[in-house]
Amino acid sequence: MGIDELLEYQKIDISLTNARKSILESDKAKTINDLGTKAKHLKATIEAGEKSATACFDSVYKIKRYLDDIPPRSAINVDTLTYEQLSKLENELNSHKTHLERLKKEFESNNEKLSQLNIKHNAEYHELIKVSNSRSSKMIDFKKIVDKFTEDHDSETELLKEIAKRVPRRLLTLYNEKKTNGAHKTPIVVKYADGSCGACGYDIKAEVGNKLKKPGDYAECPNCLRIVFFK
Ligand SMILES: [Zn+2]
Repeated sequence: MGIDELLEYQKIDISLTNARKSILESDKAKTINDLGTKAKHLKATIEAGEKSATACFDSVYKIKRYLDDIPPRSAINVDTLTYEQLSKLENELNSHKTHLERLKKEFESNNEKLSQLNIKHNAEYHELIKVSNSRSSKMIDFKKIVDKFTEDHDSETELLKEIAKRVPRRLLTLYNEKKTNGAHKTPIVVKYADGSCGACGYDIKAEVGNKLKKPGDYAECPNCLRIVFFK
């Protein structure tokens, strides 16, 4: 037994769940959700921008590394060098010059990129603050709605708790498991009708018919997994 109590429980539970759903699926809730998604995307964009900016600094280190790698040399007295030595030195210096000019160009281009990234970052950051603030203020309003709902439905919630005490624990656990895993829509508890499941219409007589003989008997529909009871 206990099916009657469970049906009573289900009736109030569905009504409360639907009322709650209407709040959770309201435009206000959707707006908050959308703003949350927007903020998340903005954060990701900002992070990606910061990574690009960090990469821009690489060219500075490149120049530093290049300069560091040039072996130190003692002071050269040009007057004592032979023509070949002088010519070799000139080639060496020219090669450094060419390389450094290339690094300088890379640095300048990165610098330009960096300043553009900075402008973009500021705009995105400004937008993120705006979105976050808007979401926070909407959350405050929404919380008021939820609080009012809780207050308005206090007696129903209490009643549900009272009925729950009268439902056999095993049945209530089964009901709640099915509700939580969300595998099927409400109602979760349905009537056994002419050998079939009262919800999905599947012929369950051969599979679980032997468990459904007298009032209060119940079984699980092998097709939709609802609780099917005999009445
Ligand atoms: Zn079924």
